[in-house]
Amino acid sequence: MSNDADHGSVDSTVNESPAEPETALETALRQLDRAATLADVDEDIVERLRHPARVTRVTLPLKRDDGRVDPIVGYRAQHDSVRGPFKGGIRYHPDVTEEECIGLGMWMTWKCAVLNLPFGGAKGGVVVNPKKLSLKEKERLTRRLAQELRDVVGPNRDIPAPDMGTDAQTMAWFMDAYSMQEGETTPGVVTGKPPAIGGSVGRAEAPGYSVAIITELAADYYDIDLNGMTVAVQGFGSVGANAARKLQDMGATIVSVSDVNGAVYNPDGIDTHNILSHEEKPEAVLEYDAPSIISNDELLELDVDVLIPAAIGNVITVDNVDEIKADMIVEGANGPTTSGADVALEERDIPVIPDIVANAGGVTVSYFEWLQDISRRKWTLERVETELESEMAKAWASVVDVHEDRSVTWRDAAYTVALERVAAAHNIRGLWP
Ligand code: NAD
Repeated sequence: MSNDADHGSVDSTVNESPAEPETALETALRQLDRAATLADVDEDIVERLRHPARVTRVTLPLKRDDGRVDPIVGYRAQHDSVRGPFKGGIRYHPDVTEEECIGLGMWMTWKCAVLNLPFGGAKGGVVVNPKKLSLKEKERLTRRLAQELRDVVGPNRDIPAPDMGTDAQTMAWFMDAYSMQEGETTPGVVTGKPPAIGGSVGRAEAPGYSVAIITELAADYYDIDLNGMTVAVQGFGSVGANAARKLQDMGATIVSVSDVNGAVYNPDGIDTHNILSHEEKPEAVLEYDAPSIISNDELLELDVDVLIPAAIGNVITVDNVDEIKADMIVEGANGPTTSGADVALEERDIPVIPDIVANAGGVTVSYFEWLQDISRRKWTLERVETELESEMAKAWASVVDVHEDRSVTWRDAAYTVALERVAAAHNIRGLWP
């Protein structure tokens, strides 16, 4: 395990701006330390939570289409399961590291806890470029991964889901391989599956919908009228496109959206339903007929009511934070704001609604999918959406309470809610040292 660096005491230098870029694990530890200074929790429990419960490292002998065999490394970092089975995605990416999986697994623990889902946190990764795999190679790799992880996953142990470089088909192969080995069809071993084999309707749209729901609740909190509220959205994929379209339907004016190649901009509003999302046609945003094309950097600096970074991490940094003119930021992507930028935004009183609340609709509908799988009963889209709205509103209300009672930022409030829930469960179950 590689997370044995000197972590120091929980209240050391947690409010200083760190050097950039931070790794996912450094960010996760910094956020935990910060929350620990605000929450009323036992230091021994915090120290336990600074480490993963278990990391499994596997070597997958991948038979290439030309007959060669490549040893491919994969990880499953299981951070905490005190509130229920581990839960989190599996990514296929050439830059995956063990440390990254541990940091992202910690984030999942907090995300599930702030939504009050009966899950812990985990993340898996395979060090491979999925764009360089044929479909057959990807299938063989995934089936072997399911075999190697068989002892540590399961509907009551650890429930993977899609992430970068993996999708519903990947989950279908994983579920099929696991079910074959178990001798029984076990849809609850993964979420984000195709609906034909136990996936939930509404799962793909859920992270974007939850961003829209939370934006509406936050706008209401700050007395911003949703009708005509101006919004810029970076990234037009699963999260960005669904958030932008939902907010447009709610009455907001979406002035700019982007993909990796740039952004379309119209101060009078653009019709996001007429722009192809990443899934519908990758990188087609600039095909939309808008009066202006601007860069992604310019999009981030637009003078709008709400800025939604929904593409990649680390886009709001100490280098551009002084140019941010939005009145509020709602994080659609995971980790779009660096810790240094966060401090600067706090000083400027620009609220940042954190990723672990805003985009948690994905894992929430994954929970609904798991419930449907283990009870063998399908929900309608209407039920999924109604229950998603209800869960998001409950999470928001608990974050508002801490934000107001302790006069802390939205991020600190969300982490405090999560940490106190996880710590309460550890406290009552006991650390069993
Ligand atoms: P996606 O692949 O569907 O879409 C990504 C979009 O971002 C595309 O439009 C792409 O062109 C654009 N993009 C890529 N690189 C960019 C760059 N350098 N600058 C500007 N735009 C860029 O991805 P997604 O599933 O929507 O995920 C977006 C973010 O949300 C990620 O941080 C992801 O971890 C996070 N997230 C996703 C889910 C989910 O279930 N899809 C859930 C929670 C969080």
